[in-house]
Amino acid sequence: MKKSFFASLMMLVSLATFAQPQVVAHRGYWKTDGSAQNSVTSMELAAKHKLYGCEFDVWMTSDGILVCNHDGVIDGIRIEDVPYAKVQYCKMSNGELMPTVAQYLREGAKYPHLKMVFEIKTHKNNERNAKVVDQVVRLVRELGVQSQVEYIAFSQFICERLHQLEPQAKVAFLNGNLTPKEVKALGLTGIDYHHSVFKKNPSWLKEAKECGLEVNVWTVNDEKDLIEHAANPYIDLITTDEPIMLKKILKGGKKNKAGKGKDGKKNKKNKKAKK
Ligand code: MG
Repeated sequence: MKKSFFASLMMLVSLATFAQPQVVAHRGYWKTDGSAQNSVTSMELAAKHKLYGCEFDVWMTSDGILVCNHDGVIDGIRIEDVPYAKVQYCKMSNGELMPTVAQYLREGAKYPHLKMVFEIKTHKNNERNAKVVDQVVRLVRELGVQSQVEYIAFSQFICERLHQLEPQAKVAFLNGNLTPKEVKALGLTGIDYHHSVFKKNPSWLKEAKECGLEVNVWTVNDEKDLIEHAANPYIDLITTDEPIMLKKILKGGKKNKAGKGKDGKKNKKNKKAKK
């Protein structure tokens, strides 16, 4: 009991003392009425809730159209094997048509504070992966949204090609099989690893910071885990299916005894409690 009280106290102290991680909505903010993973609605909701970022997944059709969907297959059709005309009327679970990346980015550009965390899925071979990366970079430049886009990918090939073509862009590696030093040596800007990877390799968090890499951890959904990760000074971003819960946890951590947040404004909750 005493031990758990002490641990909680330390966590609160950490939350108040260190720079807080940013919130990234995993596949957008989809756990709410009318939304769906990777839909334009999920991105707009992430923006309206003033989250740092909105993660989404990208595939390319055989005729070079980039679309947002997590799985490589929609309605039984393998996206990368067919022209866009074959999937253009496929719907997300909220009834919205599967968005093209161009549509998604154009809508996202209306919310300049929102980062669009762009996951390029691994396609069938590296010849294809190269074409996908080239098309992605071309589209992002054409739409002028480079400053809003941060890339992630499981494929080392994709990450390296992104870095070659767009050396100023943020590119984080997802696969969890490279040390921070190895990722840094590739020229990438961050690691975005599953939380279990950091459990197995706890020294990687510090190593990443020492290399100057940004650290993102996915997908943290349990409240206790969110509190723990939010208090970890080595973590820059947390990707979660529960972005609003995480936002509340972080907001709670900002409170101080005077009932004021970092910006000096009175905390509404505390104000209410005083009445
Ligand atoms: Mg993803």
